[in-house]
Amino acid sequence: MVEIKGISKKMGELPVLEEVNFKINDGEIVALIGPSGCGKSTLFNIISRLDAPDSGSMEGIGNSVACVFQDDRLLPWRTVWDNIRLVREPEDKARVQELIDEVGLKGFEGYYPSQLSGGMQKRCGIARAFYYNGDLLLMDEPFQGLDYCLRHEMISMLLKLWRTHRQSVLFVTHEIDEALTVAGRILILSKRPGRVVKEIRLPDYEGRDLGSPKLMEIRQEIISIITG
Ligand code: ADP
Ligand code: MG
Repeated sequence: MVEIKGISKKMGELPVLEEVNFKINDGEIVALIGPSGCGKSTLFNIISRLDAPDSGSMEGIGNSVACVFQDDRLLPWRTVWDNIRLVREPEDKARVQELIDEVGLKGFEGYYPSQLSGGMQKRCGIARAFYYNGDLLLMDEPFQGLDYCLRHEMISMLLKLWRTHRQSVLFVTHEIDEALTVAGRILILSKRPGRVVKEIRLPDYEGRDLGSPKLMEIRQEIISIITG
């Protein structure tokens, strides 16, 4: 289990995060939703240890956090295969191939990022993150800017990979329907300084329907909290 305990952070004089507390159970997808500028990316940087908090602590993540960002950050001079395998030594050829197949990049192993479409680059970045197999997978608005169909495809692919590999995932987004689709639980951050103001447990993935009264009610609740 990952535990984030009392994380606070100022940027200069500006309090950005204030006493952020939450847990992620093993193999759970938790979505973190909040208004723009509330400190989501700051928290993400702290969890991935790119930045240090002013106070608070984290348990259960060691140094082993995989990340997927909005931009894919693939190495342009490496092929699909090498971009994936480079994050973990020694190379496990069978697992690299399995992930390439699972994200639908079979046949493109030798392609360079510039030879791939945006969606294919995203698939490669996600395969790399699952290959890394960290204690936690952080996704910071990974599907932002994708068109509706591609986003839908990516979400389905992510859930399929997650069912196979059972990673613990923290999924940062400001799209409510995306959170309602991918997550087992949603955390809502307040306006800056960000802190967790609400935790919502979602119904089982099986049979979950964005149009159902239950999900409409949850969507409305989230909207009233983030606009309130
Ligand atoms: P979010 O990802 O939720 O949109 P961020 O974590 O990027 O929000 O930013 C939260 C706040 O922290 C913003 O108001 C921003 O101005 C401030 N901030 C973020 N990074 C820096 C920085 N490197 N220096 C100063 N202020 C920053
Ligand atoms: Mg951000």
